[in-house]
Amino acid sequence: MVPPPPPGEVVPSYGYLVLSPGERLTLAGHMLATHQPDGPVVRVGFAWPFIAVNDRRCTWCRNAWPCSAASWAEQVQVDAYGWAL
Ligand SMILES: [Zn+2]
Repeated sequence: MVPPPPPGEVVPSYGYLVLSPGERLTLAGHMLATHQPDGPVVRVGFAWPFIAVNDRRCTWCRNAWPCSAASWAEQVQVDAYGWAL
């Protein structure tokens, strides 16, 4: 009989990991502390037309914000607490 696959998941920038609920939350907190947006929520250009653009990037991995790591970590906290801290 083939054993069932381990209860792992693909974690952005870490790869495939098997984590306990406590380890997931620890890792999520670490990721949210390192992956941060690089600017204010909305930046308004001083040119006509006045368009509010959201062109923030992650200061850690330089991907468009929210990056995949921050999105994963936020979802972990939502799963655990019902909201993101
Ligand atoms: Zn990032």
